[in-house]
Amino acid sequence: MSIKEQVALVKETLLSYPNVKIVAAAKYIGIDQTKELIDAGIYELGENRTDALLEKYDALKEHKIVWHFFGTLQTRKVRDIINKIDYLHSLDSLSLANEINKRATKPLKCFVQVNISEEPNKSGIEAIKVKGFIKSLEKYPNIEVIGLMTIAKLTYDKELLAGYFKSMKKLRDEIIELGLPYAPCTELSMGMSNDYLIACEHGSTLVRLGRILLK
Ligand SMILES: *Cc1c(COP(=O)(O)O)cnc(C)c1O
Repeated sequence: MSIKEQVALVKETLLSYPNVKIVAAAKYIGIDQTKELIDAGIYELGENRTDALLEKYDALKEHKIVWHFFGTLQTRKVRDIINKIDYLHSLDSLSLANEINKRATKPLKCFVQVNISEEPNKSGIEAIKVKGFIKSLEKYPNIEVIGLMTIAKLTYDKELLAGYFKSMKKLRDEIIELGLPYAPCTELSMGMSNDYLIACEHGSTLVRLGRILLK
């Protein structure tokens, strides 16, 4: 099946979620296939490596791409991409916040990454520490917390996944309640190829899709 047909199929599955945005995870594909995605109407692209993002950013300059970065961002690489991306999905440390604040020329829309499944060695902040972390971002005027992001556990256990997504939404709602001007936190970046429909059922506003767009 072509990328165009696959994108159409996925969009059909999302018809009952008109407010959910698709961001394509472009890490599996090169420039040509990425252009096919663009032809299929996908203008929001995400990368998880800075060199790949820079390569595609240059190659696709004439297209009006909205760039997302999701993946570990080392502080020494912040300066390379910070003024090229529109969204960062992986804010999870004060040292990263500090570096972004220093290098960004305007406030960056960030998602705080949450390790909701509490897996060791996984990026993201533990749920219990998220509020404190967000409160401590007040001193960084170039950080705007627009939402929370998570990478759910790799499992086909739908109830377990639903539980994680529900906890994310609850946490997001608690942060909205804080009423912090720099952390409106209205968005939920959750859901990947194998779990995006469950994520949408539980309040996702943005799904990051890779393999399922390329099948
Ligand atoms: C690769 C990637 C995705 C997309 O994964 P698929 O399972 O291929 O849909 C989503 N989020 C992040 C952070 C990724 O690295």
